[in-house]
Amino acid sequence: MLPDFRVRQRDYLLEISRAITEELELPTVLKRILQAAVELTAGKAGLIALREGGRWRLRAYVGIPEQFISAFDPLLADIPDHDDPERFEIPEVSRRLSRIGGIASLGLLTGVGLPMVARQEVVGLIFILRGYGGQFSSNDRALLSSFAVQAAIAVHNAMLYQQVSAEKRRLDAVLEAYADGVLIIDSAGKITRFNRALSTISALPAANALGLNHDDVIRWAHREKGPDLNAAMADGWPLPGTTGPLYVEGDLLRHNGGIVPVGISYAAVFDREGRLVNIIADVHDMTKIRAAEELKSTFVSVVSHELKTPVALIKGYAETLSREDASWDPATVRDSLAVIVDEADRLTELIESLLDASRLQSGDLKLNIVDVALDDLAGQLVEKFKTQTNKHTLVADFAPDFPVIRGDEERLRQVLSNLLSNAIKYAPNGGEIRVSGRSTAAGVELRVSDQGAGIAAHDLPHVFERFYRAEGDLTRRVKGTGLGLFLTRAIVRAHGGEIQVESEPGKGAAFTITLPRYNGELAT
Ligand code: ADP
Repeated sequence: MLPDFRVRQRDYLLEISRAITEELELPTVLKRILQAAVELTAGKAGLIALREGGRWRLRAYVGIPEQFISAFDPLLADIPDHDDPERFEIPEVSRRLSRIGGIASLGLLTGVGLPMVARQEVVGLIFILRGYGGQFSSNDRALLSSFAVQAAIAVHNAMLYQQVSAEKRRLDAVLEAYADGVLIIDSAGKITRFNRALSTISALPAANALGLNHDDVIRWAHREKGPDLNAAMADGWPLPGTTGPLYVEGDLLRHNGGIVPVGISYAAVFDREGRLVNIIADVHDMTKIRAAEELKSTFVSVVSHELKTPVALIKGYAETLSREDASWDPATVRDSLAVIVDEADRLTELIESLLDASRLQSGDLKLNIVDVALDDLAGQLVEKFKTQTNKHTLVADFAPDFPVIRGDEERLRQVLSNLLSNAIKYAPNGGEIRVSGRSTAAGVELRVSDQGAGIAAHDLPHVFERFYRAEGDLTRRVKGTGLGLFLTRAIVRAHGGEIQVESEPGKGAAFTITLPRYNGELAT
């Protein structure tokens, strides 16, 4: 039979072991250790300090009211500023205790402090304080030391756990906030992680995806590059040791019935024995890349087509005129030269539009702000366009007191020219084209309307997009790049204004521009 106090010691040591194995939350571990240590040594109160950021800080206490805790800081002031157990000595505690003001009222008379050493490092300090005089016996110290060894392991584990938990939370937050979709599959093929971006891409909430199989979530409407995951795995991917990613690209079926272009890189994670633990998929939404690729190819086809036509005409006429074996009458020469000049003008205009579009993209479209009388400008343009058509009736309709606004006169001329020339182009049977202006509370409103073919409802939201041209016979017959309205809207917006379109197919279209009268930002 063990003597009584030995039984008690054994029980306390067991208690600590339980604290080590059961509990990983640092504050609870510290509290349990302290309670056990205080009881074990017949103490009245206890404190634990941990080394954080190169300093000792009190992290747990028992038997001391909270408002007194800061009074114990001087106890830590003389503690060695390192964690090397070889050079560690805690200064005499009892004498220091007596110097702490106000402590007397707590009735704490003597104390002892010990370092808690785990893995050759002082991870913490434990102080036990007693309410009666006399020194701690060597037996007390020996008991407390062997106890401190156990306690140190518990603290060390809890600190590691805290670090790992913090690291895991950080990693979770990173994965959650990652711009690409992230999917993690375990060795049984089940989804264990599904981040926010992937929920958006796939239109499937994470809660619905977790626990499903990869193929329940990643369903291809059309694959362009690479085998799907199952086919790749059937062919031997991933081979342990060769963890190169698998890349698959195509259109993914979204869970709301839509389709989204994506590129997925799969990487395999193996354990030390070479067993597959996880497959991690990075799902990149390619919508923007696809749109940019499309834009590039549209650009190339529009530009090559639109440049080729005038160049071919100019070359043809110039070659014909320069033939030495023929003589041309003056009228033919004049007409041919007129075609050459017209086509050269078209080329210049196209090049200007392309340059404007690229300046816009690089943010280099600068406005030269002056006072602009839009009514005069519209009048001049109506007169100019009248000479280009005999089918249309062009009307400028402005009240006599229409205000002068601040703006870039040349750019606003370009805006009205684009709208008037479209009105003529897309109303091949003629009709009235009206430019009207009125003053509003915020500024002015301009409207250019025609009685032409109009725009189908499904084209209306897109006519201001770069290179957009409505489908249809008329558009095919009429020359254009789809840049006019894109530039028009950009110029209007650069003035702080907005442009809108209304149309009833077959009955014409009307473009309405609102512009602020004076805009502080636009002042020169
Ligand atoms: P472009 O005239 O060079 O094709 P725009 O950017 O000026 O390019 O116009 C884009 C498209 O909007 C045109 O291709 C045409 O289909 C449509 N559109 C523009 N203005 C009108 C209009 N007044 N009436 C009917 N359709 C129009």
